[in-house]
Amino acid sequence: MKIKIKENSVLARIAAKKLKATQVALVLGRTIHLWGVTRSSFLANDGWVRHELAHVFQFQRHGFIKMICLYLLQSLKHGYYNNPFEQQARAAEQVPADHSFIVFI
Ligand SMILES: [Zn+2]
Repeated sequence: MKIKIKENSVLARIAAKKLKATQVALVLGRTIHLWGVTRSSFLANDGWVRHELAHVFQFQRHGFIKMICLYLLQSLKHGYYNNPFEQQARAAEQVPADHSFIVFI
């Protein structure tokens, strides 16, 4: 599976402002949008990579449009931190996984 990494993403920059964060990774489909962090620094952080890959797999499972709708709905219901999609991604941070089938482009 090919996953694109986009540095200096405007979308991630907007999210960073909203979340009051200095570093943000944001997944849309099979693209990881980064703001405030380089591709190499991001990839060196195994837990963070596992978190964002969990979001990529969520997009794979639900499809692009449905995933965005479900994510926004859950965020409205539970907030960002308690959004079940975020809880699932945080749980994935701790679990070593075989990602050898993934190529970052
Ligand atoms: Zn997340």
